[in-house]
Amino acid sequence: MDYRDSPEEAAFRERLSAWLQEHLAPFKERLRANPPSEERLGIAADWQHELFEGGYGALGWPEAFGGRPANSIERYLVVEESAKLGAPWHLNMSVTLGWCAPALLTFGTEQQQQAHLPPMLSGREIWCQMFSEPNAGSDLASLQTRARRDGDNFVINGQKVWSSGAHWSRWGILLARTGDGPKYRNLTFFIVDMSTPGIEVRPIRQMTGESDFAEVFFTDCVVPAGWVVGEVDSGWLVAIATLLNERVALSAGAGAAVIAVQGLERLLAMSRRTRRERGRVADDPYFRQRIAQAWIGALANRLTAYRVLSAQFKGQAPGPEASVLKLSGDLWSQQLSEVATEILGVRLLAGRGGDLAEDEGAWAYGALINRALTIGGGTSEIQKNIIAERVLGLPKGS
Ligand SMILES: Cc1cc2nc3c(=O)[nH]c(=O)nc-3n(C[C@H](O)[C@H](O)[C@H](O)COP(=O)(O)OP(=O)(O)OC[C@H]3O[C@@H](n4cnc5c(N)ncnc54)[C@H](O)[C@@H]3O)c2cc1C
Repeated sequence: MDYRDSPEEAAFRERLSAWLQEHLAPFKERLRANPPSEERLGIAADWQHELFEGGYGALGWPEAFGGRPANSIERYLVVEESAKLGAPWHLNMSVTLGWCAPALLTFGTEQQQQAHLPPMLSGREIWCQMFSEPNAGSDLASLQTRARRDGDNFVINGQKVWSSGAHWSRWGILLARTGDGPKYRNLTFFIVDMSTPGIEVRPIRQMTGESDFAEVFFTDCVVPAGWVVGEVDSGWLVAIATLLNERVALSAGAGAAVIAVQGLERLLAMSRRTRRERGRVADDPYFRQRIAQAWIGALANRLTAYRVLSAQFKGQAPGPEASVLKLSGDLWSQQLSEVATEILGVRLLAGRGGDLAEDEGAWAYGALINRALTIGGGTSEIQKNIIAERVLGLPKGS
């Protein structure tokens, strides 16, 4: 297979790159001091708006919602070039565009689509996902949050946890139990206005010192039946499609590309300017070997990302290659942090704002936040189970 750009792709890349360079400067300036997460989300949302206005923010989406026709390569080039040039990104932009918006596009009513897809695609509505509960994570279908029918409404009671950006989101997707019986049935998928009375959001503080996710409590929270996505009691179907899109977005989307491209470039630059007893880190055979391994891993992940995304852009359901990519990409990101930690030694502890902090404390932050990668969006053990069953054909565990 030839991975070089065709003449048309090269022309698109050139136009795109020129546009990005022309528009990115003020956004990168706002990012320069590595601001806190909430501020980064605001910058990423504003950048999505800029992309949307420039015709690059909703490639491949229906024109009725502000989208533009584009082939799968063009869509991937936007992800790749944006990452290369240091464009802003935040997890909740992936939540909004990578799996909440596709759920509405595939399963939502016309009214839901018209009300929400344009503001989502233009960076004006931030969404969160409320699936996990204290006793339902990997085994999500065991969830206990209840939605009881009451005339034209549903009344919701229960607790969600680890909902990324729930405290910054205007809307969210929610999976709740609407009846008893087999655990995969009687689940219903809702959209929820986060300002509805009866919703209490309590941010959770992480070891980074920031609060990127939250607990969400529902107490007699009344939501209209018009907020059901898909059929009542058939929410598992919508949830499965959403989780597959989440896996693709997390492993092959903007966030992964940003970590891979920017992380690697930063590591190289840092190894060139950092000196240890025997000279520059970049000249040390041990670190050269480790950086070369990271480079090879990044390339292998990138090629797998092409496979994952081209299948998705053709409308095919993501296959087990998305699990392969999530597993290897998450471990790769953690290894990148480990190499940086070895290079910096005790200087890693100099966090954001400190005189000794490298790259505005980004390495210290990365070393802490990257621990979450092998848990969020399906743990590494769950990805291994999928690979064992669907790729290796091993028997299903009891
Ligand atoms: C950064 C981050 C962001 C998140 N954001 C969201 C969000 O926005 N919305 C949301 O709903 N959730 C979110 N989550 C929650 C995430 O989906 C769950 O943490 C994840 O699914 C694991 O569930 P759990 O934490 O309950 O762990 P458990 O499922 O209890 O797992 C505990 C351990 O047991 C292992 N294990 C479990 N089952 C099996 C099995 N069958 N075979 C082998 N090993 C197994 C797991 O791998 C893990 O090591 C987020 C999590 C993180 C870390």
